[in-house]
Amino acid sequence: MTSGRARERLIKRLVESGIKDQQVLDAIRHTPRHLFVDEALAHRVYEDVSLPIGFNQTISQPYMVARMTELLLAGGPLQNVLEVGTGSGYQTSVLARLVAKVYSVERIKPLQHRARKLLLQLKQSNITFKHSDGAMGWPSKAPYDGILVAAAPAEIPADLVEQLKVGGRMLIPVGDSGQQFLHLVVRTESGFDDQVVEPVRFVPLVSGGVQ
Ligand code: SAH
Repeated sequence: MTSGRARERLIKRLVESGIKDQQVLDAIRHTPRHLFVDEALAHRVYEDVSLPIGFNQTISQPYMVARMTELLLAGGPLQNVLEVGTGSGYQTSVLARLVAKVYSVERIKPLQHRARKLLLQLKQSNITFKHSDGAMGWPSKAPYDGILVAAAPAEIPADLVEQLKVGGRMLIPVGDSGQQFLHLVVRTESGFDDQVVEPVRFVPLVSGGVQ
């Protein structure tokens, strides 16, 4: 099921779910998702589902990767993007096909190692990785055109908003295990605009310490 046919079925499904941006669909088409999960799960990997990647974490659902990437890019081309929660590196790989430079932070060391190794094998060289608590962002590389957060805090972290350029965009799930919503945050001269996009389900953003 790693075939072109399975991938095309996934693309069709994403289009049916409302994804419109052709460059995002192309990036997903060219990203070999089967390499980002354990072989035992490969038969389900081009279904539109999240799957376990160990350490109680999951690879994001393709629809969610596509939706967040599409909304991130909707303001025009992006130079530098901060990703919080590398996980398997799947979202990182999709994003790095579409923006000039990705900075990706992960708090679980073995996941970060695995993702870095795979993305090097895929020859995606416009990504820099860091093992740290991404709730604080990556201040030394800021400000960013975009920030994409793959784990949900209870509230929008002020540190992340501050690391956006004016006009910069952040996609972030916010809420607890009961209810979460995807937010589109746009930095303004005086603060930020906050727009709720749709209900979502992400693992929690864990603050204060790495693993
Ligand atoms: N987009 C990823 C999804 C990974 S799940 C993929 O497609 O594989 C979310 C990830 O966020 C997990 O790997 C988790 O360890 C990480 N995470 C949670 N809190 C974090 C924090 N404070 N800083 C950095 N990473 C964090």
